[in-house]
Amino acid sequence: MITIVGAGPAGSYLAYLLANKGREVTLIEDHDTIGKPVQCTGIVTHSIEKFFRLKKKVIVQKLNKVIVVSKNNKISVNLGEIVMWRDRFDQFVADMAKDAGAKILTNHQFMGLDGKQSVKVKDKKADKIKDIKTDIIVGADGPYSAVAKAAGLDSNSKHYIGMQAKVKLKMDTGSFETHFGNDFPNFFGWCVPESEDTARLGVGCFQNAQEYFYRFLKNRTGKKDVLCWESGLIPVYNPKKIIQKDNVYLIGDAATHVKATTGGGIIPSLKAAHTLCDCIINKKNYNKEFKKQSGRELLLHLRIRNTLSKFSDKDYDRLLNLMDKEKVRKVLKKYDRDTPIPLVTNLLLKEPRFLYFAKMLLT
Ligand SMILES: Cc1cc2nc3c(=O)[nH]c(=O)nc-3n(C[C@H](O)[C@H](O)[C@H](O)COP(=O)(O)OP(=O)(O)OC[C@H]3O[C@@H](n4cnc5c(N)ncnc54)[C@H](O)[C@@H]3O)c2cc1C
Repeated sequence: MITIVGAGPAGSYLAYLLANKGREVTLIEDHDTIGKPVQCTGIVTHSIEKFFRLKKKVIVQKLNKVIVVSKNNKISVNLGEIVMWRDRFDQFVADMAKDAGAKILTNHQFMGLDGKQSVKVKDKKADKIKDIKTDIIVGADGPYSAVAKAAGLDSNSKHYIGMQAKVKLKMDTGSFETHFGNDFPNFFGWCVPESEDTARLGVGCFQNAQEYFYRFLKNRTGKKDVLCWESGLIPVYNPKKIIQKDNVYLIGDAATHVKATTGGGIIPSLKAAHTLCDCIINKKNYNKEFKKQSGRELLLHLRIRNTLSKFSDKDYDRLLNLMDKEKVRKVLKKYDRDTPIPLVTNLLLKEPRFLYFAKMLLT
């Protein structure tokens, strides 16, 4: 019996994979409705299609362009992205798990471990504490992971504050924007269309999130009001994090499986689910296997992020100039950020002046 805590994309997709292999899986979810509240922009590359065919109702729109904005520069780059209704996406993956035979308990909150073979959960509707006997426990319970804390796997990982809101804004529904520079220290700002007159606007930062958010909102929309908040924490990938101890495993945000360049955690958590499923079925060492399968990619994202964090407004202006070349555009269209190693290698081959920035990766 395998107990997975958290019915986000990481937990539900892992439940689906394990149930498909004939394992008995119980998925515990704190909230009444899977996927709510939404705390995400819901943007993914077409790499998501390596995992499943998304249902139409999950997709808000397909985008074919990103507008990249720095202090004194603005370029448009063609690429393919999908914007999803994040709540419907989570429900879609949970339905796959259920159809494969996983048992899903919503309104059940993980409270703690009770020895090695039992977890304590609270049935919130019945207001009752239950013990669930289990052989394996997986913490797929997001950035605040109670499973990681209970198992002593709660390392000192860093988190961005992802401050995002749905706002009134008319923008081209075929493209999204990313904003870089001193107004967005250590991360960036984004504006993603949801419909012709609403957008998901946000910033990521380590502190003063409100100040940066409202400045961006005012500059971009000329307004001060938001329709609703969709904020949350975004873990920074921690390559030293222990993600397996005995029969307890961590995955997704609970394990910091997030691309540090963009804060995107959906596709890394789906990749990690395949690794973890294989480790559970074939009794492999997950700490080692994860490093082999995804560690190098996430580390490269982290190094790029650390480099970008040192950039001045001028560096960003210069970077955008280099990106605004046909040969670079072709590479950006061919390789997405979910395959960062060929992406960076090809960028360097096609435009050696990127070496100026690549050198900063090593300092
Ligand atoms: C503002 C913002 C924008 C983002 N935009 C993007 C984006 O555009 N693209 C992208 O790829 N990623 C994005 N991310 C990151 C992405 O949302 C996460 O990486 C992703 O949700 C991780 O999935 P998960 O399943 O690990 O965790 P979660 O989606 O957080 O799921 C964890 C689940 O565990 C449940 N849970 C928590 N504690 C307990 C408990 N004690 N008992 C039972 N259940 C519990 C929660 O209710 C939740 O359902 C964004 C994040 C933020 C904050």
